[in-house]
Amino acid sequence: MEDLSLKIENLPSLRETVELHGLMAKKALGQNFLLDKNITDKIIRTSLSKQNKKSFEGEYVFEVGPGPGGLTRSVLSANPNKLTVVEMDERCIQIMEELQETVGKERLEIIKGDALLEDFNQYEGQPKNIVSNLPYNISVPLLVGWLKQINNFDSLTLMFQKEVADRICAPTSCKDYGRVSILSQLLCETIRLFDINPSCFVPAPKIWSTVVLFRPKHINIDEKTFANLEKLTALAFNQRRKMIRQSLKSIKNLEEKCTSLGLDLTLRAEQISPEQYLALAKII
Ligand code: SAM
Repeated sequence: MEDLSLKIENLPSLRETVELHGLMAKKALGQNFLLDKNITDKIIRTSLSKQNKKSFEGEYVFEVGPGPGGLTRSVLSANPNKLTVVEMDERCIQIMEELQETVGKERLEIIKGDALLEDFNQYEGQPKNIVSNLPYNISVPLLVGWLKQINNFDSLTLMFQKEVADRICAPTSCKDYGRVSILSQLLCETIRLFDINPSCFVPAPKIWSTVVLFRPKHINIDEKTFANLEKLTALAFNQRRKMIRQSLKSIKNLEEKCTSLGLDLTLRAEQISPEQYLALAKII
């Protein structure tokens, strides 16, 4: 496979590209652009190094919301066999088409559409990785959708608002621990890579951002158990201050089931580990 890094280096700078296209961020699309190559390169470098990889060679990468293409350029410089980008903004699609002329259609595929509706499993090619500076307004629904089919992926490298990353990585009994922590940690090793100052974005958001690497544990959870897990955690965390005796009282034979697992009915939602929720989800 041809090394794309030189071709990317010879492109006009990202800031020039943004100016040339008169690209102004749209709030409704969650647009806060990262135009600093040092940071986008650091995201990819750090993620690859935590996966003990030097590049994306031989792999297939998906990027949600490439925008003007800063992170896209950094992914391409890591030489994936193929990168598929999904973007809703026609202005950014035009910038992607220019990039495609440089790197070739076989290396960069462009999908104009809504990532929430996109099924990455329909694409041939393994192993699959997702990389994204996520549109913040839909970051959790996108993450949960990918977690439901996590065994099809090799890694997810995702940027969230820091507060969402705190929830994803929160340990049991911590105030941030909740439904998204349980699903994420049960299915993946979640590794906080680093925080990014608001001033690094254009326009600068009010909050800090955090990059998280998800490495699937490849455990098998069938659809019914997954649905039970979602139901259980919704019941427990909708009344997070209550003991599970109360919050889970709609579960049939709750006491008997909890006793069989050594789960005390006086526990509260945040005191139960992801593995304990899974064990309960398997028998309700
Ligand atoms: N990756 C670019 C960067 O780091 O500078 C842009 C990141 S910006 C936070 C989010 C991007 O997602 C925007 O380009 C926006 O147009 C796009 N986007 C928003 N909602 C989307 C959706 N439902 N499907 C696909 N892309 C979406």
